[in-house]
Amino acid sequence: MPVTSAVSAARTILTRLHDVMASRSHAQAKLNTVVEVIGEGLDSEVCSIYLLREGMLELFATKGLAQEAVHVTRMGVGEGLVGTIAENIETLNLAEATAHPDFSYRPETGEEKYHSFAGVPIVRRERAVGVLCVQHDEPRRYEEVEIEALQTVAMVLSELISNAGLVDDEQAALGPQQTGPVRLPGLTLVKGLAMGTAVYHQPRITIEHVMAEDRDAELQRVYLAFDKMREQIDRMASQAEFGVGGEHEEVLQTYKMFAYDEGWSRRIIEAIDSGLTAEAAIERVQQRTRMRMRQIDDPLLADRMHDLEDLSNRLLRIVSGQMGTAASQGLRGDTILIARNLGPAELLEYDKRRLKGVILEEGSLTAHVVIVARAMGIPVLGRVRSLRGVVRDGDLLLLDADKGEATVRPIDAMIEAFDARFVKSKERAAAYAALRDVEPFTRDGTRITVMMNAGLRDDMPNLALAGADGVGLFRTEFQFLVSATLPARERQTRLYRDVLEAAGDKSVVFRTVDIGGDKVLPYLRHNDGEHEENPAMGWRALRVALEREGLLKVQARSLLEAAAGRTLNVMFPMVSEPWEFDAAREVFENQRKYLKAQKKLLPEAVRYGAMLEVPALAEQLDVLAPRLSFLSIGTNDLTQFLFAADRANPKLAERYDWLSPSIMRFLKRVQLSLAGHPIDITVCGEMGGRRLEALALLGIGIRRLSITPAGVGPIKELVRKVDLPEITEAMNQWLSHPPASLRDALAQWAAERGIEAD
Ligand code: PEP
Ligand code: MG
Repeated sequence: MPVTSAVSAARTILTRLHDVMASRSHAQAKLNTVVEVIGEGLDSEVCSIYLLREGMLELFATKGLAQEAVHVTRMGVGEGLVGTIAENIETLNLAEATAHPDFSYRPETGEEKYHSFAGVPIVRRERAVGVLCVQHDEPRRYEEVEIEALQTVAMVLSELISNAGLVDDEQAALGPQQTGPVRLPGLTLVKGLAMGTAVYHQPRITIEHVMAEDRDAELQRVYLAFDKMREQIDRMASQAEFGVGGEHEEVLQTYKMFAYDEGWSRRIIEAIDSGLTAEAAIERVQQRTRMRMRQIDDPLLADRMHDLEDLSNRLLRIVSGQMGTAASQGLRGDTILIARNLGPAELLEYDKRRLKGVILEEGSLTAHVVIVARAMGIPVLGRVRSLRGVVRDGDLLLLDADKGEATVRPIDAMIEAFDARFVKSKERAAAYAALRDVEPFTRDGTRITVMMNAGLRDDMPNLALAGADGVGLFRTEFQFLVSATLPARERQTRLYRDVLEAAGDKSVVFRTVDIGGDKVLPYLRHNDGEHEENPAMGWRALRVALEREGLLKVQARSLLEAAAGRTLNVMFPMVSEPWEFDAAREVFENQRKYLKAQKKLLPEAVRYGAMLEVPALAEQLDVLAPRLSFLSIGTNDLTQFLFAADRANPKLAERYDWLSPSIMRFLKRVQLSLAGHPIDITVCGEMGGRRLEALALLGIGIRRLSITPAGVGPIKELVRKVDLPEITEAMNQWLSHPPASLRDALAQWAAERGIEAD
């Protein structure tokens, strides 16, 4: 059929279907008419509808096949061409049906005389509930517009079927294609086990109405939605340009490209013109793109496809007015949250009692959302592919982040095995908890300081629970992240005071605000409007704080007041040159003088420290050392700069190892360069909370760690098994003659001494 007539055939079909749907006839009669209309419209001898009933695809209506076969011919999902379409939720378009390996001949239908075959799935709530197909006696492939017409009709049928109760949603939910368990491998970002139901951070919109009543009104809705979406994307992109955007730059660029893509909006408008609602039109166009992309085997394009899916969902949410994330709807039970990526603030919006685990399509070990999850004790699995295609809202999920995998729709035996592991892991946790009051001495009698990292008031009970020596890093910016507006001085003071009180006689090191990079504060923008190519190396942390002196001043006042009568430990992030440390210290000292003049009670002592996160500072530590009370090595940032590898870039998440001789040699030199200075040196990056990494750090002379609370028990346990002279000797050797893999060498060393690697 020529393309132009195919287009007009599609229009005619939809117009006629509109009348069929509006008619008062019985559902079966409607289906009978539908097959007539489509068969005629697409110039096909055969048109058939199969629907899922009791787990089988049953022929419900046909034009062209033997009528005796109706309600008699039944196929299993996965069986024959029809079953394959349902199983894979995929369209087939074949010039010669019998040549397809899945073809299965059904004599009762009398279909042997037909050559060409095209079929599309009828989808309800992301699952196939039936199949619509056409057959022709000439061997020809159907035109794309004809396939599209079929897909549109399938959407209409999905609504009809559901309204008529021909396939109930319960049954659809139990269809064979979703009962089977599927293993989803990923990258462990936060260890742990969790069981719960899948909840998408951005819920999928269910399209209730497919056929439009008023085309102009639908057009209007979609125009407005496009405007709104473009506004949102522009805003996100401009935030990224100012260094406070949360989304990856590349993704935003693609979003922007799609958001303004004329072709995309035109196709949606055409679909509305053909009689669909705005929602159905968006979904329709998305289906078409999905199908096209599937035929192109290119991972880069697949990523772009992902972006378009995201954007299409966003448009759907806008047009349907269902804007909230799952957090705003509240969690109903134990939940495993699913998202492409999340910001730390977004994660914190969830009800902690119900959020049991997180699965991300992206994610990396040191992204702040992961750090927050780790602090909350929530296991996270990252880099899991194609979640949308496999996991449905409400599916049961077993998340085994220890093993780096999740299982969706597990069978009973899997749940039992999982439960057993759960019990074991709880026993292990209990064994670590038993070390709470045990001081971590190495076998040779050296006391190692094991502190914890924190950032919220709620983290503080962990200090006693984990038995940490203090808080080695309190990330003050977390309060800024979870606030809708810049926290006022009183609120800051209250938090710091509460934290110090909760710490009792243990010390707390407050780090001044470290915003920028992947820590987004929507209410704090740069006013110079300068574009930042690379926000991680841009206007962040101390650089922002020094520029916005007001910010640092307020924080200094709050900290000094909160620590009245005690020792205040304050630490500056991202110090790159000694003068930056001096400038920040001066802001504090000026506030101290001011408070003194006001006759306010002051801290007994103020200890100032710097974070070593920028490699350049390592070359001037001797200059800075006399002014420092302590140095904290932030290996999350330090290693991203040493390797020139963005810590939040999921593509680089597994590329470099902390146990690289480059990092270890660097850290060792830093350690040595400060020998003789009375300065506490702590490692406060995530690596210190991992057992093999901690072992290596002990081996190069590190004696103080500040780590995630969940790591305190395991690291204490490790410390007690280590003989320092022995590991020092081993590390010296490995660092002078690096083995092929330092990790393997350490793991073997540990195994030989009965030390578990994790
Ligand atoms: C670090 O960079 O290692 C660090 C501890 O700070 P943050 O992770 O908050 O950037
Ligand atoms: Mg840092």
